[in-house]
Amino acid sequence: MDLDAFRKSSTDRRRSNQAFLRRLRRKPPKDLDQRFHELHENAFETIDCLSCANCCKTTSPIFLPKDIDRLARRFRLRPAAFIEEYLELDKEGDYVLRQAPCPFLGADNYCSVYEDRPRACREYPHTNRKRMHQILNLTYQNTMVCPAVLQIVAELQNDLGK
Ligand code: SF4
Ligand code: SF4
Repeated sequence: MDLDAFRKSSTDRRRSNQAFLRRLRRKPPKDLDQRFHELHENAFETIDCLSCANCCKTTSPIFLPKDIDRLARRFRLRPAAFIEEYLELDKEGDYVLRQAPCPFLGADNYCSVYEDRPRACREYPHTNRKRMHQILNLTYQNTMVCPAVLQIVAELQNDLGK
């Protein structure tokens, strides 16, 4: 994955993506979920996350209490000790990583805690969720992080002719 080319492309398309997704939020087509889900499947047929890992390198998932408990168990730590070692509270009051890239990301782009990774990591980049119209702002943010989302939004814009 050429992440320099992705960054340039996502920056070039930033305004147009933001405007498109705002319009979509105001007037979503009835089959928006289905459209997203088909484009999501297509994108991940060709995009290999192991050649990318840009999400793990640049942003943090939210850590829910269950995620913290599961990971703390894995490291044989108390949840409070896991929090102290790895996490901090963000502006919204959610626990996030203190650092980027994620400390659990290997040099080979594999996640070293894969089976116990946070729910947000399992669901990323959230383009196969239900009620996509509710998370179009997040989807816009993710056009700047995830090459698959950038592709999905470009194809959706193309399909809808907007
Ligand atoms: S989800 Fe997106 S940003 Fe994360 S590794 Fe896969 S393609 Fe890259
Ligand atoms: S826990 Fe794993 S999947 Fe989640 S950000 Fe870290 S390396 Fe990526």
